[in-house]
Amino acid sequence: MLKLLITRNLPDPVIAKAQGIFDVTVRDDTAPLSCDDLIQSLTDYDVVLPTLGDIYSADIFDAVPEPRAGLLANFGVGYNHIDAQAAKAAGIKVTNTPGAVTEATADIALMLMLMTCRRAGEGERMVRAGTWTGWHPTQLLGLHMSGKTLGVVGMGRIGKAIAQRAHFGFGMKIRFYNRSPKELDFPAEQIASLTELAAQVDFLVIAVPGGPETRHLIDAEILHALKPHAHLVNIARGDVVKEDDLIAALEAGHIAGAGLDVYEFEPDVPDALRNMENVTLLPHLGTAALEVRTAMGMMAVDNAIAFSEGRALPNAV
Ligand code: NAP
Repeated sequence: MLKLLITRNLPDPVIAKAQGIFDVTVRDDTAPLSCDDLIQSLTDYDVVLPTLGDIYSADIFDAVPEPRAGLLANFGVGYNHIDAQAAKAAGIKVTNTPGAVTEATADIALMLMLMTCRRAGEGERMVRAGTWTGWHPTQLLGLHMSGKTLGVVGMGRIGKAIAQRAHFGFGMKIRFYNRSPKELDFPAEQIASLTELAAQVDFLVIAVPGGPETRHLIDAEILHALKPHAHLVNIARGDVVKEDDLIAALEAGHIAGAGLDVYEFEPDVPDALRNMENVTLLPHLGTAALEVRTAMGMMAVDNAIAFSEGRALPNAV
């Protein structure tokens, strides 16, 4: 029986499925693996099921010249915490869980768009604080979302699901920026320049993968190009947005607000962001629904099973 390390507890059906096939160790800690843990995972297990925060950098692979592990079956579609090239060079395969996360993460993007433009967090804080004195016509006036223009950065699975919701549900005009040309089956215009896209939209939503290619894609130039009434939403990875530049843009009123699910130095969230009323801050909730996390886990375990049976990996990256 192959030894499988699951680095964070997962929903019961996922653990049960894995236990039917593997000799399973479930780590009893919600924090990411330490450097020593990372090395040990490669020396002591045949398969590892890691997730966000377990940073398999090139140094970790270098530290284990003859790894026992042959597969990192990542729990999550984003795998920028794994140096996939270094893993490959070390003879270790990597898989992820695309598709399972798409709809739930798109839902969170729409929630953040609405929360930031309609000042929901600010209003909720007012009610909770007992400082709400009653309805009046000029209270907490936000931006009306229906019919506005949405810019999507990264028109992949999640970007498209966000655009679909915005187009069909809210009558929004869709424009987008994407690495390669993309045709959609509903009206959406691809814009060649990200700065140009920013200048045209009321909402800019980030849906590109993290990693070196997209690090700080959203910086002062892009934020200054946005209109003063525009809102930025990031459901992708924190380091796609240069957080200092975002804080400066919000403080200077270059943009009206932001809705964030992810942070550059997660889980640290700067005081400057926490103190701003026009920023909605979620604790990385993109896929946080039991059925979604179960589906993600099942997908990761299916990849592990395929590996154990010597079959082609369903979700190799
Ligand atoms: P995907 O289907 O691979 O889509 C990514 C899109 O980004 C692709 O269309 C890709 O273009 C585009 N892209 C990549 N690099 C780019 C660049 N430098 N400039 C412009 N466009 C670029 O991935 P997905 O399933 O939609 O997921 C996207 C990301 O969301 C994940 O990688 C993950 O980090 C994040 N995520 C976050 C949460 C959360 O909890 N908040 C949950 C799930 C996922 P091409 O067409 O050229 O490939």
